[in-house]
Amino acid sequence: MLNDFLRLNPEAREKLVKDLEKKGIFDKNVLNALLQVPRELFLDPSLFVRAYDDMALPIEFNQTISQPYTVAFMTQLLELKQGDRVLEIGTGSGYQSMILKLCSAEVFTIERISQLYHKSKSLFEMLNFNIHIELGDGSVGLPEFMPYDAIIVTAGLPSIPNELVKQLKFNGKIVAPVGDLKSQTMTKLIRIDDDKFTITEHSKFRFVPLIGDKGWYIDDQN
Ligand code: SAH
Repeated sequence: MLNDFLRLNPEAREKLVKDLEKKGIFDKNVLNALLQVPRELFLDPSLFVRAYDDMALPIEFNQTISQPYTVAFMTQLLELKQGDRVLEIGTGSGYQSMILKLCSAEVFTIERISQLYHKSKSLFEMLNFNIHIELGDGSVGLPEFMPYDAIIVTAGLPSIPNELVKQLKFNGKIVAPVGDLKSQTMTKLIRIDDDKFTITEHSKFRFVPLIGDKGWYIDDQN
């Protein structure tokens, strides 16, 4: 099924991937994954003309599909290996989940907005992508399927919750945008052992907020 969609605009994807290389993305697996996933699949038809602009675009319920550069940068930081078990917090459109899956990972993803959950679940099924998707508050992780090699948080949060660190294997990584509601620093945590970890900080980004027990309290009616 994905093959049918691949006929959509392959030249535009090649150009996007070349631009991402110029912007510093070097991981071949990540670049190859972005080459393979048509971004139109996740967008309203009125936005198809902008599908390969390197920018975040609106999806339903005031949420966004992340900028391709951001998806590539975060996935590259995760340094995924074949068979790694990955948890994504904030499924949204499902674009990042499919990129993770193509980077040889076993993917679990969690979304709090029921309509987005159902939409992404149907999309994964239609494309025959074996991604495990759950509905709920991912700010406390997804302990049922722990431990993970990598956790990626695709919404902004005030700090990295201890609950997430505890769900990592030793040497596992969390990549998350940490900051206030206006701006976040991309942060990478590596768990060394029971309670030791290292943190590195990367560039600034702007994400929609992670809403939940260990995220922000915002009453957005969803
Ligand atoms: N990875 C997505 C980015 C979507 S934007 C993509 O590629 O399209 C962030 C998503 O996080 C939104 O869909 C939002 O509803 C979801 N979200 C916010 N707080 C959450 C929480 N506590 N648990 C799970 N999902 C959450």
